[in-house]
Amino acid sequence: MTTTLPSPAPAITEETRPYWEAAAAGQLTLPRCGSCSTVIWYPRGFCPECQATDVEWFEASGRGVVYSYTISRRGRAHNPAFAEAPEVVLAYVELAEGPRVMTNVVDCAEADLRCGLPVHVVFHPTDDGKGALVRFAPDPAE
Ligand SMILES: [Zn+2]
Repeated sequence: MTTTLPSPAPAITEETRPYWEAAAAGQLTLPRCGSCSTVIWYPRGFCPECQATDVEWFEASGRGVVYSYTISRRGRAHNPAFAEAPEVVLAYVELAEGPRVMTNVVDCAEADLRCGLPVHVVFHPTDDGKGALVRFAPDPAE
């Protein structure tokens, strides 16, 4: 499907700032508990498993598989940036590091979309030119 999705700038909080700054630099980073090593998603200031507050960031592989998806052809008015957008693939991608992240799958023909599809991270510059959104595209066929 399309690669011309709108890329509205995200709302950045102190807890998500490292994620967005890395994305702007073309890296996918994830938070990890410094105490029990749980990979944490969504980003927050403590570990949901052991409540430790020593959260560290590391560069992820950028690899994963489609866990679940839907194709949005209607109801895009939740974000005005998407009002005129073509079809949007809204997906959960299960990262190699474990977390399932909500994202878009791009550059994928509808007939090729399936759960379990191997994907890799791609970065789309935000419409304001200041950052990047994290999306996923299918791995090249072997
Ligand atoms: Zn922990």
